[in-house]
Amino acid sequence: MTVHLVGAGPGDPGLITARGLELVRSCDVLVADVLVAQELIDEAPEDAIVVSRAGMKQEAVTRLLVAYGTTGLDIVRLKGGDPFVFGRGGEEALALAEAGIPFEIVPGVSSIAAVPASALIPVTHRGVSDRVTIASGHGADGGEPDYASLAAAGGTLVLFMGLERVEQLCRGLVAAGLPASTPAAVVSRGTLPEQESVSGTLETLPELATELESPALVIVGEVVAVGASLAAAIAVPAIA
Ligand code: SAH
Repeated sequence: MTVHLVGAGPGDPGLITARGLELVRSCDVLVADVLVAQELIDEAPEDAIVVSRAGMKQEAVTRLLVAYGTTGLDIVRLKGGDPFVFGRGGEEALALAEAGIPFEIVPGVSSIAAVPASALIPVTHRGVSDRVTIASGHGADGGEPDYASLAAAGGTLVLFMGLERVEQLCRGLVAAGLPASTPAAVVSRGTLPEQESVSGTLETLPELATELESPALVIVGEVVAVGASLAAAIAVPAIA
Protein backbone atom coordinates (compact mmCIF):
# COMPACT_ATOMS: atom_id res chain seq x y z
CA MET A 1 0.00 0.00 0.00
CA THR A 2 3.05 2.17 0.13
CA VAL A 3 6.07 3.00 -1.93
CA HIS A 4 9.17 2.18 0.10
CA LEU A 5 12.29 4.03 -1.01
CA VAL A 6 14.87 1.56 0.25
CA GLY A 7 18.64 1.95 0.45
CA ALA A 8 20.33 -1.20 -0.86
CA GLY A 9 23.73 -0.37 0.64
CA PRO A 10 27.00 0.29 -1.16
CA GLY A 11 27.43 -2.89 -3.22
CA ASP A 12 27.99 -5.93 -1.00
CA PRO A 13 24.50 -7.46 -0.77
CA GLY A 14 25.15 -8.23 2.91
CA LEU A 15 25.11 -4.52 3.67
CA ILE A 16 21.39 -3.87 3.10
CA THR A 17 19.53 -3.25 6.38
CA ALA A 18 17.38 -5.99 7.96
CA ARG A 19 14.30 -3.82 7.36
CA GLY A 20 15.22 -3.26 3.72
CA LEU A 21 15.65 -6.97 3.06
CA GLU A 22 12.34 -7.76 4.77
CA LEU A 23 10.58 -5.30 2.44
CA VAL A 24 12.28 -6.71 -0.68
CA ARG A 25 11.20 -10.21 0.34
CA SER A 26 7.55 -9.24 0.63
CA CYS A 27 7.05 -6.69 -2.17
CA ASP A 28 4.68 -6.90 -5.14
CA VAL A 29 6.80 -4.65 -7.36
CA LEU A 30 10.56 -4.06 -7.23
CA VAL A 31 12.07 -1.14 -9.13
CA ALA A 32 15.85 -1.49 -8.88
CA ASP A 33 18.80 0.76 -9.65
CA VAL A 34 21.55 -0.40 -11.98
CA LEU A 35 24.19 -0.61 -9.23
CA VAL A 36 22.04 -2.79 -6.94
CA ALA A 37 23.44 -6.31 -6.41
CA GLN A 38 21.63 -9.04 -8.38
CA GLU A 39 21.58 -11.13 -5.17
CA LEU A 40 19.20 -8.57 -3.65
CA ILE A 41 16.95 -8.46 -6.70
CA ASP A 42 16.78 -12.26 -6.52
CA GLU A 43 15.33 -11.92 -3.00
CA ALA A 44 12.05 -10.55 -4.38
CA PRO A 45 9.14 -13.03 -4.34
CA GLU A 46 8.94 -15.18 -7.46
CA ASP A 47 5.67 -13.59 -8.56
CA ALA A 48 6.82 -10.00 -7.98
CA ILE A 49 7.07 -7.63 -10.93
CA VAL A 50 10.75 -6.70 -11.23
CA VAL A 51 11.73 -3.60 -13.18
CA SER A 52 15.32 -2.52 -13.77
CA ARG A 53 15.73 1.18 -14.24
CA ALA A 54 18.58 0.57 -16.71
CA GLY A 55 18.11 2.86 -19.68
CA MET A 56 15.27 4.82 -18.05
CA LYS A 57 15.49 8.56 -17.50
CA GLN A 58 14.83 9.77 -13.94
CA GLU A 59 11.53 11.34 -15.02
CA ALA A 60 10.33 7.98 -16.37
CA VAL A 61 11.26 6.22 -13.11
CA THR A 62 9.39 8.82 -11.09
CA ARG A 63 6.32 8.50 -13.35
CA LEU A 64 6.45 4.71 -12.99
CA LEU A 65 6.54 4.96 -9.18
CA VAL A 66 3.57 7.29 -9.16
CA ALA A 67 1.66 5.00 -11.53
CA TYR A 68 2.37 1.83 -9.48
CA GLY A 69 1.76 3.80 -6.29
CA THR A 70 -1.90 4.26 -7.20
CA THR A 71 -2.51 0.51 -7.64
CA GLY A 72 -2.54 -0.44 -3.96
CA LEU A 73 0.39 -2.80 -4.51
CA ASP A 74 3.40 -2.85 -2.24
CA ILE A 75 6.27 -1.19 -4.11
CA VAL A 76 9.96 -1.28 -3.24
CA ARG A 77 12.17 1.23 -4.99
CA LEU A 78 15.64 -0.17 -4.32
CA LYS A 79 18.38 2.44 -4.61
CA GLY A 80 22.17 2.21 -4.30
CA GLY A 81 23.62 3.28 -0.95
CA ASP A 82 21.23 5.61 0.86
CA PRO A 83 18.26 6.99 -1.11
CA PHE A 84 18.92 10.58 -0.02
CA VAL A 85 22.68 10.79 -0.61
CA PHE A 86 23.12 11.80 -4.26
CA GLY A 87 20.36 9.31 -5.02
CA ARG A 88 17.57 11.59 -6.28
CA GLY A 89 15.36 9.96 -3.65
CA GLY A 90 14.17 13.42 -2.67
CA GLU A 91 12.74 13.98 -6.15
CA GLU A 92 10.92 10.65 -6.09
CA ALA A 93 9.54 11.35 -2.60
CA LEU A 94 8.34 14.81 -3.66
CA ALA A 95 6.54 13.43 -6.71
CA LEU A 96 4.84 10.76 -4.56
CA ALA A 97 3.86 13.35 -1.95
CA GLU A 98 2.40 15.62 -4.64
CA ALA A 99 0.38 12.71 -6.03
CA GLY A 100 -0.93 11.92 -2.52
CA ILE A 101 0.74 8.49 -2.47
CA PRO A 102 2.01 7.27 0.90
CA PHE A 103 5.71 6.54 0.99
CA GLU A 104 8.39 5.51 3.43
CA ILE A 105 12.14 6.12 3.41
CA VAL A 106 14.26 3.18 4.55
CA PRO A 107 17.82 4.46 4.95
CA GLY A 108 20.74 2.51 3.56
CA VAL A 109 24.46 2.28 4.22
CA SER A 110 25.77 5.01 1.96
CA SER A 111 29.05 4.67 0.12
CA ILE A 112 30.15 7.77 2.07
CA ALA A 113 30.23 5.59 5.19
CA ALA A 114 31.14 2.22 3.70
CA VAL A 115 33.62 2.85 0.91
CA PRO A 116 36.40 4.80 2.69
CA ALA A 117 36.06 2.37 5.61
CA SER A 118 36.41 -0.64 3.33
CA ALA A 119 39.70 0.87 2.10
CA LEU A 120 40.78 1.40 5.76
CA ILE A 121 40.45 5.20 5.53
CA PRO A 122 38.90 6.66 8.71
CA VAL A 123 37.20 9.82 7.32
CA THR A 124 37.35 11.47 10.73
CA HIS A 125 40.44 10.57 12.71
CA ARG A 126 41.03 12.24 16.05
CA GLY A 127 43.74 14.87 15.74
CA VAL A 128 43.81 14.61 11.93
CA SER A 129 40.35 15.54 10.60
CA ASP A 130 37.30 16.74 12.51
CA ARG A 131 35.00 17.15 9.51
CA VAL A 132 34.01 15.65 6.18
CA THR A 133 32.71 17.52 3.17
CA ILE A 134 30.89 15.43 0.61
CA ALA A 135 30.34 16.86 -2.83
CA SER A 136 29.59 15.89 -6.38
CA GLY A 137 32.58 15.81 -8.71
CA HIS A 138 30.39 17.87 -11.06
CA GLY A 139 29.13 21.33 -10.22
CA ALA A 140 25.41 21.97 -9.78
CA ASP A 141 25.07 22.79 -13.49
CA GLY A 142 27.16 19.80 -14.59
CA GLY A 143 30.27 21.97 -14.86
CA GLU A 144 33.14 22.41 -12.43
CA PRO A 145 32.60 22.11 -8.68
CA ASP A 146 33.24 25.15 -6.48
CA TYR A 147 36.95 24.45 -5.92
CA ALA A 148 37.51 27.53 -3.76
CA SER A 149 34.96 26.45 -1.15
CA LEU A 150 36.07 22.80 -1.29
CA ALA A 151 39.72 23.78 -0.82
CA ALA A 152 38.78 26.05 2.09
CA ALA A 153 36.56 23.47 3.82
CA GLY A 154 39.36 21.79 5.80
CA GLY A 155 39.24 18.18 7.02
CA THR A 156 38.38 15.41 4.57
CA LEU A 157 36.79 15.81 1.13
CA VAL A 158 34.84 12.96 -0.42
CA LEU A 159 33.86 13.47 -4.05
CA PHE A 160 31.13 11.39 -5.69
CA MET A 161 30.81 10.69 -9.41
CA GLY A 162 34.30 12.02 -10.07
CA LEU A 163 36.23 9.10 -11.59
CA GLU A 164 36.19 10.47 -15.15
CA ARG A 165 37.36 13.82 -13.84
CA VAL A 166 40.10 12.90 -11.37
CA GLU A 167 42.65 15.00 -13.22
CA GLN A 168 40.48 18.15 -13.37
CA LEU A 169 39.44 17.67 -9.73
CA CYS A 170 43.02 17.36 -8.47
CA ARG A 171 44.20 20.28 -10.60
CA GLY A 172 41.24 22.41 -9.54
CA LEU A 173 41.86 21.79 -5.85
CA VAL A 174 45.58 22.60 -6.17
CA ALA A 175 44.81 25.78 -8.15
CA ALA A 176 42.39 26.75 -5.37
CA GLY A 177 45.12 26.45 -2.74
CA LEU A 178 45.47 22.86 -1.50
CA PRO A 179 49.12 21.69 -1.49
CA ALA A 180 49.94 19.30 -4.35
CA SER A 181 51.35 17.00 -1.63
CA THR A 182 47.90 16.54 0.01
CA PRO A 183 47.20 12.80 0.36
CA ALA A 184 44.43 11.60 -1.96
CA ALA A 185 42.91 8.25 -2.93
CA VAL A 186 40.39 6.72 -5.29
CA VAL A 187 38.40 3.69 -4.12
CA SER A 188 36.66 1.78 -6.90
CA ARG A 189 33.78 -0.70 -6.42
CA GLY A 190 34.07 -0.46 -2.65
CA THR A 191 32.79 -3.40 -0.54
CA LEU A 192 32.63 -5.66 -3.62
CA PRO A 193 35.06 -8.51 -4.36
CA GLU A 194 36.38 -6.35 -7.26
CA GLN A 195 37.28 -3.48 -4.91
CA GLU A 196 40.49 -1.65 -5.87
CA SER A 197 42.04 1.49 -4.50
CA VAL A 198 45.00 3.71 -5.23
CA SER A 199 46.56 6.17 -2.86
CA GLY A 200 48.95 9.03 -3.55
CA THR A 201 48.76 12.82 -3.56
CA LEU A 202 46.80 15.41 -5.50
CA GLU A 203 49.77 15.50 -7.84
CA THR A 204 50.14 11.76 -8.43
CA LEU A 205 46.52 10.56 -8.19
CA PRO A 206 45.40 11.20 -11.82
CA GLU A 207 48.17 8.93 -13.15
CA LEU A 208 47.48 6.24 -10.53
CA ALA A 209 43.73 6.16 -11.14
CA THR A 210 43.65 5.72 -14.91
CA GLU A 211 42.79 2.00 -14.87
CA LEU A 212 40.09 2.08 -12.21
CA GLU A 213 36.43 1.40 -12.93
CA SER A 214 33.31 3.09 -11.67
CA PRO A 215 31.62 3.48 -9.29
CA ALA A 216 34.38 5.19 -7.37
CA LEU A 217 34.92 7.79 -4.68
CA VAL A 218 37.74 10.32 -4.58
CA ILE A 219 38.96 10.98 -1.04
CA VAL A 220 41.25 13.91 -0.25
CA GLY A 221 42.96 14.77 3.02
CA GLU A 222 45.46 13.64 5.64
CA VAL A 223 43.20 10.71 6.64
CA VAL A 224 44.27 9.02 3.40
CA ALA A 225 47.79 8.79 4.85
CA VAL A 226 46.34 7.28 8.05
CA GLY A 227 44.64 4.68 5.84
CA ALA A 228 47.93 3.93 4.07
CA SER A 229 49.68 3.40 7.45
CA LEU A 230 46.88 1.15 8.61
CA ALA A 231 47.09 -0.90 5.41
CA ALA A 232 50.88 -1.20 5.77
CA ALA A 233 50.55 -2.20 9.42
CA ILE A 234 48.22 -5.09 8.71
CA ALA A 235 50.19 -6.21 5.64
CA VAL A 236 53.38 -6.71 7.68
CA PRO A 237 53.04 -9.30 10.43
CA ALA A 238 54.00 -7.77 13.78
CA ILE A 239 57.36 -8.95 15.15
CA ALA A 240 56.72 -10.94 18.32
N1 SAH B 1 23.04 6.93 -3.03
C1 SAH B 1 24.40 6.44 -3.23
C2 SAH B 1 25.18 7.34 -4.16
C3 SAH B 1 24.61 7.43 -5.57
S1 SAH B 1 25.57 8.45 -6.65
C4 SAH B 1 25.08 6.26 -1.88
O1 SAH B 1 24.51 6.63 -0.85
O2 SAH B 1 26.15 5.67 -1.86
C5 SAH B 1 26.64 7.25 -7.38
C6 SAH B 1 28.07 7.51 -6.92
O3 SAH B 1 28.26 6.98 -5.61
C7 SAH B 1 29.11 6.83 -7.77
O4 SAH B 1 29.43 7.60 -8.91
C8 SAH B 1 30.27 6.77 -6.81
O5 SAH B 1 30.93 8.03 -6.70
C9 SAH B 1 29.58 6.50 -5.48
N2 SAH B 1 29.52 5.05 -5.18
C10 SAH B 1 28.40 4.30 -5.03
N3 SAH B 1 28.71 3.02 -4.74
C11 SAH B 1 30.06 2.95 -4.69
C12 SAH B 1 31.01 1.90 -4.43
N4 SAH B 1 30.62 0.64 -4.15
N5 SAH B 1 32.33 2.19 -4.47
C13 SAH B 1 32.75 3.44 -4.74
N6 SAH B 1 31.91 4.47 -4.98
C14 SAH B 1 30.59 4.24 -4.96
